[in-house]
Amino acid sequence: MKAVRIHEFGGPEVLRYEDIPEPQPRKDQLLVRVKACAMNHLDLWVRKGLPGVKLPHILGSDVAGEIVEVGEYVTGFKTAQRVLLAPMHFCGHCVKCVAGLQNQCPIFTVLGNAVDGGNCELIAVPAVNVVAIPDSLDFNQAASVPLVFTTAWHMLTGRASIRPGQTVLVLGANSGVGISGIQVAKLFHCTVIATAGDDQKAARARELGADYVINHYQQKISEEVRKITGKEGVDIVMEHVGPATWDESIRSLKPGGTLVTCGATTGPQVGIDLRFVYSRQLSILGSYMGTVGELHEVMKHVFSGRLKAVVDRTFPLKEIRAAHEYMEKSQMFGKIVINP
Ligand SMILES: [Zn+2]
Repeated sequence: MKAVRIHEFGGPEVLRYEDIPEPQPRKDQLLVRVKACAMNHLDLWVRKGLPGVKLPHILGSDVAGEIVEVGEYVTGFKTAQRVLLAPMHFCGHCVKCVAGLQNQCPIFTVLGNAVDGGNCELIAVPAVNVVAIPDSLDFNQAASVPLVFTTAWHMLTGRASIRPGQTVLVLGANSGVGISGIQVAKLFHCTVIATAGDDQKAARARELGADYVINHYQQKISEEVRKITGKEGVDIVMEHVGPATWDESIRSLKPGGTLVTCGATTGPQVGIDLRFVYSRQLSILGSYMGTVGELHEVMKHVFSGRLKAVVDRTFPLKEIRAAHEYMEKSQMFGKIVINP
């Protein structure tokens, strides 16, 4: 089959379109023909080099496609069925996994990170990772959902315990987490303040439901939040940016507010003024992907149209270098999807 693999870490030039043997599914697995694989910033991090990645390696976390083969031990699926894949990889039998907390499993990782992903024509996965999709959802949209929407859902519901009527600050409206965070917060009838880097992205954020949009290059986020909220601040900040926005994120919280973070796009180190944290009784929470159960919850809302995937553009698998270069320029609004 055709696949894109990396044999060394580096820039887009390390992505190699090549022929490799087809995966041989185990009896408890299904073989899926990949129709669409959405990109995430994780693809760039893995390509540049992350610990635990064995070379050669296939990138790609978010897969939608068709079942080609159903293993002997698998029930409930049939060939030619349209599906998407849960991007989580976990042991399935530890205390955390059996409690449904797969993202706390000791071996938890994401497809395309420490295990091979979907930048290829065929992928073998356990049945627990396979979710049937309706004909109304095309493959590009389906592939654009799992990682970002499950991440946003876990951040806001699993971690920050979002409640109807709260005010939520969503950083980076054009990012995958931003696009999904705005929609999840609106599903809970929250007031959403988003940040965006230009007028076009601000308009798109409003289309998704953002009530207010701050230009994070031209305006000071915490000052605008104070104006919008009548000096009160927000209940929840969705962080994934890191040092570039961290201080502003903390300052935007109301007393008793919660900052929940799932990423560090601009770097891993931030400062915290402890006096501010204890006197204002702030909660700072980490969030990592989500559980398979949360993905199923998200998909119910996607199937019924309450949550919508946003696809920016597609690239054929053999043009994946151009896709990586495009993502590195950060000009997209929505997902970049690879089609094998
Ligand atoms: Zn486990």
